[in-house]
Amino acid sequence: MPAFRYEYELAKQDGIEFHWLTQPVAIHGNGAVESVECVRMELGPTDASGRRFPQAVEGSNFRLPADMVITSLGQSRLLGFLAQCRGVELRNQCVAIDRETGQTANPKYFAGGDCVSGGREVVDAVADGKRAATGILATLPAPRSTPDSATQPTK
Ligand SMILES: Cc1cc2nc3c(=O)[nH]c(=O)nc-3n(C[C@H](O)[C@H](O)[C@H](O)COP(=O)(O)OP(=O)(O)OC[C@H]3O[C@@H](n4cnc5c(N)ncnc54)[C@H](O)[C@@H]3O)c2cc1C
Repeated sequence: MPAFRYEYELAKQDGIEFHWLTQPVAIHGNGAVESVECVRMELGPTDASGRRFPQAVEGSNFRLPADMVITSLGQSRLLGFLAQCRGVELRNQCVAIDRETGQTANPKYFAGGDCVSGGREVVDAVADGKRAATGILATLPAPRSTPDSATQPTK
C-alpha cells in the first residue's frame, strides 16, 4: 500500500500497528465480526515487470481479534452504472469527454474528475469542474435582455 513517509510516521504516532507482508483471507464471527484471518506473505522471484510478487507462506495463517473491519483499498468505478447513462461513452474504463468542455458523447452530460481520469488529485477534479461549468454555460441560450434590464444599474 503506497504512502508518504510522514503519513506512515503519523499513523504510528496514532497507535496504528502495521503488519507487513500480510494478507487478510477471511473474516470470522458469529453475527458480529470477531477476528480477521491473515496469512503471511513472502516475496517471490522477480517477474517480467521487475517486481517481486508476494506469495502466501503455506500454513502461516493466524487470526487478529477485531470487532470492526474497515476495508479501505480497492476503489473502482461503477462501470455498470456509467454504462446506463444514456449515450455516455467509456474509454479505457473511464468516461470519455471532450477535454476542453467536459462534454460527454451525450451532449447534455458533462463529466470530470476521477471518473474521467481514472484517479488523480483534487486539484485536477476542481479544474475539470471549472472547465465543465464553462462548457455547460456555452451550451445554454444567452439570457434574453428586456428593455428595462438594459437601462437598470446593476447592484
Ligand atoms: C485514499 C485516497 C487518498 C487521496 N489523497 C489525496 C491527496 O492527498 N491529495 C489529493 O489532491 N488527492 C487525493 N486523492 C484523490 C482525490 O480524493 C480525488 O482525485 C478526488 O476526490 C476526485 O474528485 P471527484 O469529484 O472526481 O470524485 P469523488 O471525490 O470520489 O466524488 C464523487 C462523489 O460522487 C458520489 N457518487 C458516486 N456515485 C453516485 C451516484 N450514482 N449518485 C450520486 N452520487 C454518486 C460519491 O459518493 C462521491 O461523493 C486521494 C484519493 C484516495 C482514494
